[in-house]
Amino acid sequence: SKKLPLPSSTRILTVSNQKGGVGKTTSTVNLAAALARGGARVLVIDLDPQGNASTALGVEHPAEELSVYNVLVGEATIGEVIRPSTEHERLDCVPANIHLAGAEIELVSLVAREQRLRRALDRYLGEMEDPYHYVIIDCPPSLGLLTINAFVAAREVLIPIQCEYYALEGLSQLLSNIELIQQHLNSELTISTILLTMFDSRTNLAQQVAQEVRDHFPTQTLETIIPRSVRVSEAPSYGQSVISYDYSSSGSLSYREAAAELAHRGAPVSKER
Ligand code: ADP
Ligand code: MG
Repeated sequence: SKKLPLPSSTRILTVSNQKGGVGKTTSTVNLAAALARGGARVLVIDLDPQGNASTALGVEHPAEELSVYNVLVGEATIGEVIRPSTEHERLDCVPANIHLAGAEIELVSLVAREQRLRRALDRYLGEMEDPYHYVIIDCPPSLGLLTINAFVAAREVLIPIQCEYYALEGLSQLLSNIELIQQHLNSELTISTILLTMFDSRTNLAQQVAQEVRDHFPTQTLETIIPRSVRVSEAPSYGQSVISYDYSSSGSLSYREAAAELAHRGAPVSKER
């Protein structure tokens, strides 16, 4: 694979959209795999109790093993729960498992409940000799404490938007939540990237939605659009990204192009934390 430019410090992105089924997990896994193939060291943090990102990276996540849940409640460090992905040598995963489903409620009564992931991640990255180039956090489809933890830990938000009729509906809620986070919990958070997903070029509607998103987010929207492709949806059941599963497929190509755009654009200019 072509080598990608590497960031000089770790870029931490959270992949968020409170709608389910818009391609958050798929984009997390495939962008991570493409960046790792391009030469970057990448960590995926699975913050969805379903653990689909873990599965897609070939990382098993049984209930009896330590997971991101134990990190959030302060029982384990990130170093203790991290697993190498079978997907690529430079790609690791902090898995989620079913215990995370209770965390949304358990976190409420904990000290610094919004900061738990950030503190654990900062400590882990600070102790690493060769820190990751990218940390990508896969969020659940809600705007609860798990997603807030991701917003506080991250510097960049990547919003996948499915090219369908109600694509922009509900987005204003996401945007105002991000604004609240910026005001109160993480002033350096920026919406750096919008990725159009599941595009069906045969419909006018998809084209219209794509144009509408570009009008709203002219600088953030990547040129690359991810097409709807069966190969993309088949790959996770083999514990693979679409890039390993079918390298020359259109889905693989477009995720590699999107990753290259992300790498070439670089981190948005922001204050040091
Ligand atoms: P989310 O994490 O936002 O809930 P997923 O990434 O799990 O969304 O995607 C939802 C469903 O759509 C999954 O079954 C996934 O395999 C499928 N999917 C995602 N992207 C594509 C695509 N480009 N082409 C076809 N199917 C896709
Ligand atoms: Mg998901």
